Amino acid sequence: MSTGKVTLGSPVTALYGVGEEAAKKLARLEISTVFDLISFIPRRYNDWSDVTSIECCEEGREISFLGTVTTAPVRKGFKKQSPVAFYVSDGTGRIELSYFNAPYIIDKFMVGDKIFVHGTVSYYGVHAQIVNPFCEKAASTDELRLVRPVYHLTAGITSNMINKWAMTALKLVKDQIPDIIPESLRTSENLCSAAEAYEWVHAPSSLSEAAEGRRRIAFEELILLGIGMKYFMATGGPDEVAPIVIPTSKLSPESANRWKTVIGNLGFNLTGDQKKAIADIQHDLMGSKPMNRLVQGDVGSGKTAVAILTMAMAAIMGKQSVLLAPTSVLAKQHYDSACALLKNSDINVALLLGKTKASLKKEIKTQLREGEASVIIGTHAVLTDDVQFNDLSLVIADEQHRFGVKQREKLLISRDGSDGINAVHNLVMTATPIPRTLAMVIYGDMATSVIREKPAGRKEIQTHFLPYTDGQDIYNVLLAKLRKNEQAYIVCPRIDDDSEVVAPDEFYFDDLLESVNEKPEAVSVKTMKKRLDDHGISSQYETAVLYGSMKESAKLEVMERFLSGEIKILISTTVIEVGVNNPNATMMMIMNAERFGLSTLHQLRGRIGRGDKQSYCVLCSDSKTEQALSRMKLMCECSDGFELAGKDLELRGPGDFFGTRQHGIPTLRAANLFTDAPLAKVACDEVNKLFERGGKEASDLMGNIGTMFRLRFADKMGTL
Ligand code: ADP
Ligand code: MG
Repeated sequence: MSTGKVTLGSPVTALYGVGEEAAKKLARLEISTVFDLISFIPRRYNDWSDVTSIECCEEGREISFLGTVTTAPVRKGFKKQSPVAFYVSDGTGRIELSYFNAPYIIDKFMVGDKIFVHGTVSYYGVHAQIVNPFCEKAASTDELRLVRPVYHLTAGITSNMINKWAMTALKLVKDQIPDIIPESLRTSENLCSAAEAYEWVHAPSSLSEAAEGRRRIAFEELILLGIGMKYFMATGGPDEVAPIVIPTSKLSPESANRWKTVIGNLGFNLTGDQKKAIADIQHDLMGSKPMNRLVQGDVGSGKTAVAILTMAMAAIMGKQSVLLAPTSVLAKQHYDSACALLKNSDINVALLLGKTKASLKKEIKTQLREGEASVIIGTHAVLTDDVQFNDLSLVIADEQHRFGVKQREKLLISRDGSDGINAVHNLVMTATPIPRTLAMVIYGDMATSVIREKPAGRKEIQTHFLPYTDGQDIYNVLLAKLRKNEQAYIVCPRIDDDSEVVAPDEFYFDDLLESVNEKPEAVSVKTMKKRLDDHGISSQYETAVLYGSMKESAKLEVMERFLSGEIKILISTTVIEVGVNNPNATMMMIMNAERFGLSTLHQLRGRIGRGDKQSYCVLCSDSKTEQALSRMKLMCECSDGFELAGKDLELRGPGDFFGTRQHGIPTLRAANLFTDAPLAKVACDEVNKLFERGGKEASDLMGNIGTMFRLRFADKMGTL
């Protein structure tokens, strides 16, 4: 408990009643500040205001009624676990209310009390009862709040807790919420005030009031996203850049030869979509405006080749470029690909990682400064202040959403001219199939190239479901592949049996949580390793483990041995999810597959099927929940990411595929990015109009949007 003033940005622990333990759990719901708490709006409401009578007590029916206590609450039995029960009647009948684990009920109600009851009717024999109902003393429903918010939850946190804390928070900070909706929009859309909106979503007197509050907050979110992204995380500006590529027909013979060498090194023909993407990029690079392009392509569609060819183009024109990867494993892999592709072309490639030795780093930095290396590949280590370039003109970010916001800002700084670099071209590669309307809101004016076509000769990955996580089949399937000298991944949702957090990105979704609650144990990397040891598999086939918290050097070493074919089975967490490329790995088993959302499963599966051999993905799960099974079924039926996302959208709304943080698409709490895209446009246009007029109103609004953007989104984006 802090004694200072509680502000929107205060940690939740500043609130009375929220301790460190609760804060940890709330963090899983992406709630860390007071503002997070009040903007964490319910996912739905239970409306208990439809009051009936006891005679409507059919088995399984949820009812609300007003009645009178007719017997004193007593413990039914002698055990500590025995329930406390009493009768109520309302003139139409009488029913027993039965409470488990609630001894305080004995003192709470007495004969003659008028009460309001809500709960689900059940029967034992002919005897009707309600187990653990909601029950309050009340003669009428007037003073009761009967529209009850239901929130997204995580283990150990209930809707009541969140609601209580949110209301506590709101009392303290409601006068501090800056208004980010222009007057004109407020009037034209008939929106309530910010303070009202937050009050109404957490404590509505009716469903329509809740809906009104949500509508206002949706507008806020869309403005923050649309305007905030543009002004506070802008990737494109009005800057001029020098064109870096001239049409290939006009290349000098020497340059043309170098380009030919590179193309020759490819060892395959580019797909039509790859060629189209490269042509789009080439066109952008020839313009005087900085390129701001997104290359979207499903896993395995060959984005890396596009990236490296783009860098080769720049290099041949005498310019430097940087390829940023989110992990060192991935950077190293891109480096190897680049070296192979650029061999004999007289283009120097440099690799710069956080863990690169100081002496070597110094040497590489000199190369970058002197312009000796023109293709630079690295993690965000490249972005530290003391790295200087000779003539940087292109920055490519692979899976850019995985970079933290600070690093993204850094990317922008490196193009503001202050360090001798003028505007650079910007290319982003992503495997997320973002719909167009959405891309416009998130990326503003970014142009898009889509790679849909898979490289020739690829066999469709076959995905199968095994309804258990232990059993001989698992080993048989595995051995069949290994005997052919192919390699396998086994993905487990946690590192060891003590590590608790499992696929944390996805805890947001109730149905995933449901699967987790259904069976809390999950196979860990270490357990799996032991099982393979016990089955004698490890003694025949080299087996190794890989997970995020291992030392960088150890990770790289394991990856290297796996890529070289020495390690046959790699047991890992989702660290391998992005980018890892080993075409000889043709088998992936995903343990406790119910723990992962569709997008993660698909991304994981993208690690196989990267060569011309038939690949198999086996989803192992003991789950019996319908949600989990339908997700598995979809995975088995559908191997294309775009199609999968589309079907998922159809089936379950935007939640699963796009809702997760891992796509860098922030989780919206009130707005639905898919259905509300037109709303977003209206809202953002209105704000932009105001900005154009300028003046105090505009600068105040800009300030408020900046503040709220940081509170709501910026500090949350990109975690790795
Ligand atoms: P991603 O789009 O997931 O980043 P990669 O760029 O890693 O995909 O490519 C996956 C694999 O496909 C790599 O082994 C790469 O060499 C290969 N590849 C890329 N383009 C082609 C192509 N046109 N024909 C054949 N193989 C290709
Ligand atoms: Mg890739």
